Amino acid sequence: MRYDDESKQYLRIALESMGKYGLTTTPVNYSVWYEYASGKNNALNAAIYKHLEEKQSFSESLCQALYDQFIVGGKEKVTTLVREELKKVFTEIIGAIQTTRQNFSQSENNLGSIGEAIVPNLSETDVEKIVEQIKSEIKRLELTSSSFKKQLQQATHEIDQLKNKMQQYRNEALLDPLTRITNRRGFEKSLQQAINNANQTATDLCLIMADIDHFKQINDTHGHLVGDNVLRMIASTIKSSIKGKDHAARIGGEEFAIILPQTPFNGAMRLADNLRQTFESLDLKKKNTGESLGRITLSFGVAIYRQKEAADDFVHRADEALYQSKETGRNKVTGHES
Ligand code: GH3
Ligand code: MG
Ligand code: MG
Repeated sequence: MRYDDESKQYLRIALESMGKYGLTTTPVNYSVWYEYASGKNNALNAAIYKHLEEKQSFSESLCQALYDQFIVGGKEKVTTLVREELKKVFTEIIGAIQTTRQNFSQSENNLGSIGEAIVPNLSETDVEKIVEQIKSEIKRLELTSSSFKKQLQQATHEIDQLKNKMQQYRNEALLDPLTRITNRRGFEKSLQQAINNANQTATDLCLIMADIDHFKQINDTHGHLVGDNVLRMIASTIKSSIKGKDHAARIGGEEFAIILPQTPFNGAMRLADNLRQTFESLDLKKKNTGESLGRITLSFGVAIYRQKEAADDFVHRADEALYQSKETGRNKVTGHES
């Protein structure tokens, strides 16, 4: 698909889908089907496919549930977690401060009374008694401050755990749940980093775009679950074919991208063609029946980064090259040299 036509295409597909399932054009329904059409929210699309395997209809309430879970759901989860955990730690710290303050002021009162008892001409026994009282107050103060320290350590520990959990959620948000490789958001982030680096160090940076040929047929013939397995297999094959700083992502339903820092154009072309050949020669079989899925091929587009070029333009050129491979027969690699 060409980038300039993209949003119009999404709009058309979204409206068509809503019409097909008799859904009204509410903002919630529209968001769900626009996001579906864009193919950028893999988890949402997977849920929609799963539902379509069982039923050919969609209700307004199902759209709302999809919206809650896949469009606002991820963010909500993290914010709620952070809010609840922070509240807990905060309450603990405040509690510890209050108890400590009470204990200190109790000691202050006690020491005050002891002080009043220090008058001229004290007997030796009186002095001994006062010394004992002061010692026991000091012990109390030590106890109070060590338990305060422990409580603060506990709070610090909980905050650290919260930080780890947040990092985990953040990483999770950049992963595609189906294939466990980077998703579109992660791809955009990594690409921007790679671009910044290429600009700073004036080194080569290449991008490969890949799209499964006639994937719709695989779903139509064998069902979406088999389609999902094919996607997993392709993702893992791509991932195991790259190394070092290279970064593979699933950026759409059946589209993949590979970011190749410090890689010359011919190197990227070679990698793309090796992958193309690998897939072409695989004989994939259905897990349960052993039935062959036939030949599954991919089309590729390769581009090399031009200094100072915007990410969108770079992606666009790789996409154009991929489009050429599709137009000229599929199962091909086309390059867009600078
Ligand atoms: P082309 O060679 O032109 O790329 O044809 P195509 O059939 O691969 O492309 P098209 O864009 O027409 O269809 C893409 C299909 O990919 C539609 C959808 O059924 C399938 N698809 C997208 N995401 C998923 C997914 O998560 N799971 C499964 N099983 N199928 C998916
Ligand atoms: Mg596609
Ligand atoms: Mg395709």
